[in-house]
This record gives sequence, C-alpha cells and structure tokens, in this order.
Amino acid sequence: MSHLSHADELYLDANATSPVLPAAIAAALDAMGGRFGNPSSSHAAGLRAKQILDDTRARARRVLGAGPGRVLFTSGATEGIQTAVLSALCAIRERRAAGDTCGDLLLYGATEHKAVSESLAHWNRLLGTGLTLQALPVDADGRHRLDILRELAPRAALVCTMAANNETGVISDLDGIARTLREHGPRAYWMVDCVQALGKLPLDLAVTRIDYAPFSGHKLYAPKGIGMLYVRDGAPYTPLMIGGGQEAGQRSGTENMAGIAALGAVLAELEQGTAFRSHAGMAAMRDRLAAALTDAFPGIVFNAPLAQALPTTLNFAVPGLASKDLLDLFDAAGLRVSAGSACSAAKAAPSYVLAAMGLPLWRSSGAVRLSFGPTADDDFIDEACARIRRCGQLLRAPLLGPSPLSGAAHGLLQVSAEGRHGWIAFDLDAGVGVAIDPPLALAPRIAALVGARGLHVAAVLGTGSDPEGAAARAALRAALGQAPADPGPLGWPGDAAAIAIGGRVLARLASSGTRMAYLLEAADGDGIAFTGDADDVQLARPAALLCHGVDLDGQAFRTLDVAATEASAAQLAPAHLAAFLQAHADALLVDVREQPEAEAGACHLHGRSALNLPLSRLAEHLAQLLATPERPLVFVCRSGNRSARAALALRRAGHAQAWTLAGGIALAH
Ligand code: PLP
Repeated sequence: MSHLSHADELYLDANATSPVLPAAIAAALDAMGGRFGNPSSSHAAGLRAKQILDDTRARARRVLGAGPGRVLFTSGATEGIQTAVLSALCAIRERRAAGDTCGDLLLYGATEHKAVSESLAHWNRLLGTGLTLQALPVDADGRHRLDILRELAPRAALVCTMAANNETGVISDLDGIARTLREHGPRAYWMVDCVQALGKLPLDLAVTRIDYAPFSGHKLYAPKGIGMLYVRDGAPYTPLMIGGGQEAGQRSGTENMAGIAALGAVLAELEQGTAFRSHAGMAAMRDRLAAALTDAFPGIVFNAPLAQALPTTLNFAVPGLASKDLLDLFDAAGLRVSAGSACSAAKAAPSYVLAAMGLPLWRSSGAVRLSFGPTADDDFIDEACARIRRCGQLLRAPLLGPSPLSGAAHGLLQVSAEGRHGWIAFDLDAGVGVAIDPPLALAPRIAALVGARGLHVAAVLGTGSDPEGAAARAALRAALGQAPADPGPLGWPGDAAAIAIGGRVLARLASSGTRMAYLLEAADGDGIAFTGDADDVQLARPAALLCHGVDLDGQAFRTLDVAATEASAAQLAPAHLAAFLQAHADALLVDVREQPEAEAGACHLHGRSALNLPLSRLAEHLAQLLATPERPLVFVCRSGNRSARAALALRRAGHAQAWTLAGGIALAH
C-alpha cells in the first residue's frame, strides 16, 4: 500500500467531528447564494431566508420531541451549555434572594465534557452564586452512581449528566437519574448534554423532566459553528447574548443561516431520509469492528461494556502498546482514530474520563477511541476491518531486524515510554540480546520483540536512574520466563567481567554510588555508553555516543562532542520540499516512523521513496549518517514531531544539512 492521501482515508473519529453531508453542503450553499437574505427582514429576500429558519426549527422540534419546549439555535454545544448554566444559576440566585431554599451543590457527572464543569465554575464565580461544585462519581462501567446521587440530590441546585459519553460511548441511565431526582431532588434543575446522542439514540425530550439539552451540529454531519438548545417549557431562561432580539429575544445576533440550513438538511435525513442506519444496523457494524480488533490485537480490552454504549463508539487498550503507538500505526494505514476527546488530543495526560471509571493507568494511557457515524456503510466497515487486521499482522511481524542502512545483523533499539528510554543491544546471528533500563510499561512488548526473533536475553540491566528500575527489570525477566530477582547488582550477571553480544562486548564502565554506566564496544568501531541520567560520566574509554535513560536536554542520546546546541530542528516547509529535493539530487529522504507504520503506508514524496530508518534505530546509525556531513538529510514522519527529534540529534552531533519536514507527511501531498 502506498502512502494514503486523504481520499483513501477511513475517518473513524466521528465523536470528534464529522464530515458534512452532501445535502447539508448544498443547503448551506443555497443559504449563502439564492437565499442569502436576513431572516429578520420583511422583504421577499428576508422572507425566503426566514423560511429556512422556520423549517429547520420545526424539524428540530419534531426530531427532539420538544413539545411545548423551546428550541433555539446556538453556535454549538458549548454555547448551549453556557446558556443553560447561566439560566439555572440566575434562577437559583433569584430564588435565594426571595427567601426560597435551594440546594448548595452544582452536581455534574465525573465524565462530563469539560465544557460543563468549566462553565459551572466560570458562571458560579462570575455571578457570585457561591455554590459548591461536586463531581458525581461513575462506576467501573462509566455509569453515574445513583446511590450517591440519591444522597446528594436533596442538596443539588443543578444537576448535569450527559446522555452519552464522547470518549467511551457509555449511555447514561437517564430514566434512573430522573427517578432519583423526582424522589430526592425534585427542585434541582437538570441539564443533559445530548451532543453524542443525536442520530444515535431516540429522543423525546418533552416527556422527560430534562430542563436543558444542548446539541452540536458538527457531531452529526452539519458544519462547525451551529448547535441547538432545547429548553423545557417553564424552565427558567436568561439569554447569554442580548442585542437585536433575534430568536424572540432569547439569543441575539444575526443567525448563522448557512449552518441552520445545513442542520435542517441533516434533520430532514434523520426524519425521513435513508442515509442513516438503524440502531441495530450500527450495532452490527460496531460488533464487526470489535471482532476485527480482537483478531488483530490479542489481549485487547474494551474500556466500556459494548451493550451499554453508543452503537458507534469503541474505546479500547492493548497491553504493552501506548495510545500513540496505535494511533501512529492506524494513521499510517489511513485509519483516522483518536486517543480520546479531540479537545485533549494535544495534552499528554491520560483521560480523566477513564480515570473516573477507575481503570488502571495502562488502560487510560493506552486508550484508543474509534467512532463512526450513522451514514457508515458495509463497504466502509469491511475496509476498516481489513486495515485493522493488517495493522495487527504488521505488529506481529519480527521487528528486530538487520540494519536498514548497512544490513548488519547487530543493532541497538531504543524502547521509550512515558519519558523513559530503554535500550536493547542485539545480534541476530548470535541470537543474543541485552536490555538496559527497560521501561516498566514495556516489559511485555520487549519480551514479544525478542521472542519473535528467538533471541536469548543474556542480561536485563539498570543504570540506577529509573526509580521503577528494579520492578521493571523483574517484570521483563518474568515476561521472558527468567527468574525475576536481579542476579547481581543492577542485574549484572554474577561476577562476569563482560557480556558478549555476538562480536561486541558489553562491559561495566563506571559506578557512582547506586549508579552504573555500561560501554558497548565493537571490535571495529567506536563504543556506545549507556549512562542513565548522568551526563558527566568520566568515561574510562572513548565512546562515540551516550545513550540516556531519560531525556537530557530534550534528547535520548548524544555524541560526546556536542557540535551545536540548537534548541529546535531546522525546518523545511512542505511547500518547499519539491524544490529542495530537486536542488539536492543527493538528498536522502528518511522516514523515521516505526517499521509497521512504514509498511502500512510507505512514504513516497515528489517521486522519491523514503528510506525507513525508524527513530528507535537512529542512535545506532548516527555515526554512519555523520560520515557524509555534506549530504542533505530530510527527516519525515507522520506529524513532524519524531522527524524534528531526529533532525535535532543530527544537527547537535554536527550534521549541518539535517532537516525536518514541518507538519509531517500529512501536509506534504
Ligand atoms: N459535549 C460533548 C459530549 C462533546 O462531545 C462536545 C464536543 O466536543 C461538546 C460538548 C462541545 O461541543 P461544541 O464543539 O459544539 O461546542
């Protein structure tokens, strides 16, 4: 498979946002073209626009089952949430001023979208209502603890519980919550964030006790910037925006007519179209995806029970694989998935939603969310299942291979997790390897890597720099079927003077207190030192390269003589790549993605095929790359992060022609 352009991508991140339905695009164009008028104008152009507004609202009322309640158009769910919170808090303030007793708690589900908890804190502070924010815990399945709600409901002034969770798809027991509130908190206002429910769960809002229900268009094939807010008939209301009196004075500002028209087209599909699958149809597709994932990744754990989740959402973790590893691989295979919510995609922290469910760290830090929309069809699901299975095969292939540059049978693999770097020195011909500072989380993965090559791990060593080092070594030895206890200090085997790894020799280099450094010497080349977190080891013998257990100055390894101290890599803009490659016929395009990624979608740019030299094998090849300092090196990867690390390492080591392709392969086509 060649690298996939966006035309070949399978978009499986529908809970983050969705593509826009063709009928919705057409409706938006019509609202910006022929029916561009201002719906408040009384002339014909205005009346034509007003018809769009009225039609969409009428449809929305029917689809939501709004009964006598109000439906107003907002910019999205975040605005709907603000409006609901503001309305409830203003009412609570007035009731208190009139001597009415209100509860003192603002209760929100522990797994709510941040827009809810942040709005509650913001408006509570701004309005000076002085209520106490209290998270309502969820159980291990992600459902609200109704026993705790029962206890807290008498004190609740406002309760916020989403209809379905965006990360896990877990569907709330709204009937159970309604019952509990009826019995124990009848005066509390109730907001239900229905963003993920629209199009996937039946809605009949007016027959419920729900006071406020925000919706977002872009989660269901409408564009970004349009949403709806349902307000129960009789529920208090305070406008967030005041001005020209649009939306009957409830939400001023000239309406987003293109968005409203597009939303109207989506609602029309929901009401009477054929584009959306039934609940059972979606559940069958989800089950096929789950089966493909289970085949592809033995040991996979689903982070929410499928029977209680949206029929379009899967959230899972695979032992030994971080979210990022799977996301990189899926992206290379043209499967666009995410680790959780799009809002937190840039943050490294594991999901608070999964943490609230009490899942162990490996399941939240390894979480992958796969979500599709109701327009998915069988061909799409077939292709997604095939690519998922292929990703599984690629991960099972023996990854510890000969050098991609020289073909040599010996090598050095960097294994990194959560800011710690471990190293595996190996020789395929001799069938031997040694692990140094293996990160705890990677024990099963490392065991699988060496197992796939039938390597004997002669020692599992530590430099003493990892606080979890002893546990990590024990875990790896156990995963390898060896006795878990350290055979000697920091794993050094007995009183051996040195360990042979094929034609190379590993020796202890220097120790200071509880620390140890090691030197890997080749008969014909410079040595490589493993120094944990010590950068000032007085090396007894020369080493060309220092490999660390933690990032030092942003790098996992460095040459002994640092040639440059740049803080960031030299960037090549995607728009300049073609000209650069043309001007430098000898330039080497280096794809630093891991081998399964490169196999899932090889990198060809502007008629050149990239050499796949994974970042995890870069340290080993540093000397070779430095040997031709005038030959330009253009490092590329998925998004530009790993290639920036590679280019920076080369620059600092003295290669003045090392570049990173900014923005990654995604922007280079
Ligand atoms: N609530 C939930 C459950 C969501 O998934 C989202 C989207 O990220 C929001 C609220 C915010 O929606 P919007 O992007 O329309 O403001």
